[in-house]
Amino acid sequence: MNNNFFVLYSDCIPVNGSARSLICDLGRNDFIFIETGHYEALSKNTVVVDHENKEWLDYLVEEDYGFYTDTPERFPRLTFNHENSSIITNAIVELNESADHLKKLLEKSEQSRIEALELRVYNRSKDFLVDILNLISISNIRSVSLCLSDYRTINEDFTMVLSDINTLRDQFNELKAISLFECSENDSFIIQDTLIVYNTMSLRNDHCGRISPKNFIINFQNFAEANHCNSCLNKKMALDTEGNIKPCPSIQRAIGNINDFDLRDIANNTVIQSYNIAKDQIEVCRDCEFRYICHDCRAYLSPEKMNTKPKYCSYDPYTATWQ
Ligand code: SF4
Ligand code: SF4
Repeated sequence: MNNNFFVLYSDCIPVNGSARSLICDLGRNDFIFIETGHYEALSKNTVVVDHENKEWLDYLVEEDYGFYTDTPERFPRLTFNHENSSIITNAIVELNESADHLKKLLEKSEQSRIEALELRVYNRSKDFLVDILNLISISNIRSVSLCLSDYRTINEDFTMVLSDINTLRDQFNELKAISLFECSENDSFIIQDTLIVYNTMSLRNDHCGRISPKNFIINFQNFAEANHCNSCLNKKMALDTEGNIKPCPSIQRAIGNINDFDLRDIANNTVIQSYNIAKDQIEVCRDCEFRYICHDCRAYLSPEKMNTKPKYCSYDPYTATWQ
């Protein structure tokens, strides 16, 4: 065997940027920086090995991003299909005094095939929590993430402490994560497959939208979505405490109310479509090597500036620096 060719593993995808490029390893949820000149060679899938490129190709082999072969045609590049039969994959529902809008959403969830719910609960009553989880348990929702506000007093007088969380988790199989906000410290741990997160920040819509390497999501689904649409808002929706339907809780523009809106029409709504822009169409982001792994916040932009970089991103892809 001469091993005259180098091929990237099929789940290792090169992405070009202005100042530098990278290879996303979607299997290991990681990435490695490369020179943009090397991207040009790797984008062709097969690289003919010669004395000029051998050193950096050896490095990629050592790092387990690719391999040498004599039969590169046996290893075609993956194609990314982001299609999903659900009309809505995730919905965020804000709840305070009433759960009527959640009930209405669950009644309509069959027609829109909602898979997962994030419930942002501002009501501190444990009975209210149990009532809404009981509603979910008789629905077709498979995954629920619970966000609970105002836990400043978690160690003092609030009635729902860890033992109560354990009871909820045991009782409701759909409960995959519980996040407590406004805690005295940040922490996270897993109890029997349920992720428990303590956050010092507030739940009131200001914890979202900050672009940072800490929030990069490196997996097939996100990468495929980001190639075609907005990975944060595609097939997502939010309901505020009054039942108003919005693209996300931080976006103020409502497109209707859950009481009289047919969710099957959501993908064709022009407001929803105006937010669903792929990174390759966004100024600055289209030149950034992180564009398929960072989330894309369209909130905090005025409607006429929908093709501009997220407000809370401080990365400059032309100098490869975070401000
Ligand atoms: S410039 Fe755009 S693509 Fe790059 S990190 Fe910021 S938001 Fe993501
Ligand atoms: S668009 Fe921004 S604020 Fe809305 S969910 Fe996405 S990251 Fe959060």
